[in-house]
Amino acid sequence: MPGFEIFGDKERKEVGDVLSTGVLMRYGFEGARNGHYKALEFEKKLGDITGSAFSHLCASGTAALSTAMAACGIGAEDEVIIPPFTFVATFEAVLQAGAVPVFGEIDETLCLNPDRLEAVLTPRTRAVVPVHMCGAMARIDEIRDFCNQKGLILLEDACQALGGTFQGKHLGSFGMAGCFSFDAVKTVTCGEGGAVITDDPQVYETCHQYADHGHDHLGGPDRGADDHPILGCNYRISELNAAVGLAQLKKLDQILDTQRRNKQILKDAMTDLPGISFRYLPDPFGDSATFLSFMLPTEEKARQAGKKLAENGVPCPYWYANNWHYYRQWHHLKKMAAASPMAVELCSNLPDYQHLALPESDAVMQRTLSMQIMLSWSDQDLEQRIAAIKKSITA
Ligand SMILES: *Cc1c(COP(=O)(O)O)cnc(C)c1O
Repeated sequence: MPGFEIFGDKERKEVGDVLSTGVLMRYGFEGARNGHYKALEFEKKLGDITGSAFSHLCASGTAALSTAMAACGIGAEDEVIIPPFTFVATFEAVLQAGAVPVFGEIDETLCLNPDRLEAVLTPRTRAVVPVHMCGAMARIDEIRDFCNQKGLILLEDACQALGGTFQGKHLGSFGMAGCFSFDAVKTVTCGEGGAVITDDPQVYETCHQYADHGHDHLGGPDRGADDHPILGCNYRISELNAAVGLAQLKKLDQILDTQRRNKQILKDAMTDLPGISFRYLPDPFGDSATFLSFMLPTEEKARQAGKKLAENGVPCPYWYANNWHYYRQWHHLKKMAAASPMAVELCSNLPDYQHLALPESDAVMQRTLSMQIMLSWSDQDLEQRIAAIKKSITA
C-alpha cells in the first residue's frame, strides 16, 4: 500500500500551488486562492475513478468512517456488524457514533463471511460494515444481498482497497456509502486523509455538513453567512494534504499496474511450495494487489514459516498475533478503556468483548501470513525474494 514510495515533482508542484497562495483551507478565501481548489479537484477525480456520484474528503479514514456513520443515520444503541480482522479504526468509528460493534466471523477471503451474518443478527442490528482487507474484496455481492433482504445499511470500509473492484464495480460503491483512507501507508497518501463516496445526494449533503461543523455551504464566499442545519465537528482535510493526495491519485493506475505485476510474479513462484494455499479472491481481476496473503496447513507451520521468512529478509505480518488488526489483542476494547464514559457503555446487552471468541476467524488467521507488495522492487529484488521464500517454506 505504498504511495509514499513514489513522491516526486508532481507532489511538489501541487503543494507548491497551495503554498504560493497561502490559502490552506478548502473553503473560503476566494480572492486569495488563485483558483486552486485541491480538495475539490481530488473529490472530482475520486468520483470519476470509483464511478460514484459524490465524494467528500475528510481529515482521515477514521474521520471518514465517523462522517459516513453520521450521514447514514447510525447512532445510539444501533448494532453494527464488523469483522474481527480490520484496523482498530473501524470499531472506533462505531463507538464514536454511540453504536455497538458486533463481530461476525471471517472466512478465507479474510473478510466478513456473508453466511455467518445471520448468526449475529438481532432486532437492533442497523448496519453491516465489511472491510476489504489487504487490498482485496469481501464477498460483497452476497453481503449486499443480505443487507437488502434484512433492510440493513451497507457501509463499506474500503480504507485499504482503493482501486479494487468486484466484477468491474469499485469497492466502496456497493452500499449506502464507502470509505477510503489516504494515511501515510495507504495506496494513495495525503499524509493524513480519507474520503466518503456515495450515490445518495442526501448522504453526501450530510457528509459535507457534518465534517465541517454543520455548515450548509450555501452562504457563498462568506462562510459566516452559512447556516448550520445539523450538529457536526471538524473533520476537514487541509489543502496541503489534499494537494499531495491529488498528485498521488493521478498515479493510481501506474501504482496498480506495478503492484499487480509484482504480486503475480511472487504468487506464480510460490504456487508449488509445499502446503501453500492462497487467500480466496471472489474476483481475482479486481484485486488491488497491495498484499499477497497465503495460508499454511497449520498454525505451527505458519509461525515457523513466518520466523524463517523474517530471518531470510522477507518479513511477513502474522496478523493473528498483531496488536492492531486482529481482535485477540484489542485489550482496550475488551476492557472498554474509554477516556470518559461512552454512550455505548450505557446500553443494555453490550456484547461480552472480554470473552469474545471467534473460532472460525481464528482458524483462518492462525494459518495466514501476508506479504506487502512494494512498487520499488527491481527484477533482481524479486528474484532475491523468491529465493528467500523458497528457502523459508519447505516441507
Ligand atoms: C487505515 C485504515 C482505517 C483508518 O484510516 P486512517 O486514515 O488511518 O484514520 C480504517 N480502516 C481500515 C481497514 C484501515 O486500514
